[in-house]
Amino acid sequence: MINHWIDGALRPGRSGKSGPVYDPATGRVQDEVALASVEEVDEAVAAAKAAFPGWRDAPLVRRQRVMFAYRELVQNHLDDFAKILTMEHGKTLDDARGEVQRGLEVVEFACAIPHLLKGEFSEQVSTGVDTFTIRQPLGVVAGITPFNFPAMVPMWMYPMAIACGNTFVLKPSEKDPSASLLAAELLAEAGLPAGVFNVIHGDKVAVDRILEHPDIAAVSFVGSTPIAHYVYETGTRHGKRVQALGGAKNHMIVLPDADMDLAADAAVSAGYGSAGERCMAISVVVTVGDAADRLIPRIEERIGKLSVGPGLQPGAEMGPLVTGEHRDRVVGFIAKGEAEGATLLRDGRTLKIEGNEDGFFVGPTLFDHVTTDMAIYQHEIFGPVLSVVRAERYEDAIRMINDSPYGNGTAVFTNDGGAARKFQNEIQVGMVGINVPIPVPLSFYSFGGWKDSIFGSHGIYGPDGIHFYTRQKLLITRWPDPIHRGVDLGFPQHG
Ligand code: NAD
Repeated sequence: MINHWIDGALRPGRSGKSGPVYDPATGRVQDEVALASVEEVDEAVAAAKAAFPGWRDAPLVRRQRVMFAYRELVQNHLDDFAKILTMEHGKTLDDARGEVQRGLEVVEFACAIPHLLKGEFSEQVSTGVDTFTIRQPLGVVAGITPFNFPAMVPMWMYPMAIACGNTFVLKPSEKDPSASLLAAELLAEAGLPAGVFNVIHGDKVAVDRILEHPDIAAVSFVGSTPIAHYVYETGTRHGKRVQALGGAKNHMIVLPDADMDLAADAAVSAGYGSAGERCMAISVVVTVGDAADRLIPRIEERIGKLSVGPGLQPGAEMGPLVTGEHRDRVVGFIAKGEAEGATLLRDGRTLKIEGNEDGFFVGPTLFDHVTTDMAIYQHEIFGPVLSVVRAERYEDAIRMINDSPYGNGTAVFTNDGGAARKFQNEIQVGMVGINVPIPVPLSFYSFGGWKDSIFGSHGIYGPDGIHFYTRQKLLITRWPDPIHRGVDLGFPQHG
């Protein structure tokens, strides 16, 4: 049984409820995860609340040293993390290592916390009066995370929150919960006091309790758009600060002048990496003019060489999907695409992996002549399904992206600087690649899409993370001086 981590120790679940954790490569249930009751969530929040005053007052350099120590420990356990991710999520070991590395960058950013929390100071804003700002932690904050990056997405949150002086309750995805426990053990080993970081496993019961708990000040969420919307509405209704990052349908435009080999490499890497289970995956390639006829054969040639297999298998480039239920959903979309008249150039449903017949595999799938009214265009499939939409003009391609309800990531492939600049200026998307298919910002910038890909005004990690996990206090100070001005009921005017 995979248990909770509360107040510095593993706590067996007491709700009597659990959920299956699969090995996606074999399709077998490999473990069960405890699903928390309301009382167990309350216990975790109480531990975090009790730990807050001590942690809030811990010197900045102490918080910094914990982050430095944790960074070293994660680096030393990178392969342990990666193996857990591959075993529960299904992604290849190499991809899993990359995930941990990207998460680690946020820990590295958080190591600079003494610098990042510096306030502003203005001397003599009025005679003998100084003004300055300080940023203080919020209290107990919670993170609710998706299955697709079980190590990295929590790392987008807790290093920042903790370094800022908050205490944290993490509710990871119940589909692949174990990486969070390794993180908890390593944070404890790094010197983090008990209760500062807690992990509570669970489903909607735990999420709902987090959203209404009076002692939780803020909630960070990453997941699908409908749940992000629900989390944002419910959390803010209960007076919390909420950032909720949602789903995506990322388009990549290929102009006729693009380097077609570069574009094909990018479409295949960003379309099928992690079996399409990335919020920054490319799922739609919009070709302009005659680009399709030169691009598609190159994509097909590359698909033909992809090695699909269990994530632990050396040389595997793409693993299975996370659960049988998700595999069935993806397969259902492929059937819909066919029924709606798109041209199915590669059908991933036919893939069989010898020895792993019951694994949740779907091979790389490619549709051509997809139109915007089709289900495969409109919905986030979150699987290895790439759709090619043919646009006559560049303006049509841009309009298509701007009409999409999602706005997470996008890219344009071109060798024309003017066309690229038009894209960067007009496109209604939060993260934009120019000849780069997955524009995921490094930790010293913040991550966040636009439109239905985010609810709330803060991106995650980076400078926005500091702002989200702290609130500003403004001070105006005057120390007694010999000139006493007497009573003045007028509104202060300075000079
Ligand atoms: P999900 O929305 O199903 O689950 C996310 C979290 O919400 C999980 O912890 C889950 O337990 C919880 N949850 C699920 N259903 C709930 C409900 N009805 N009520 C309350 N809580 C609920 O997402 P997922 O399938 O785990 O992850 C994939 C999704 O996450 C995709 O849509 C992907 O685009 C998105 N994602 C977005 C980003 C981003 O940065 N924008 C990053 C990664 C993933």
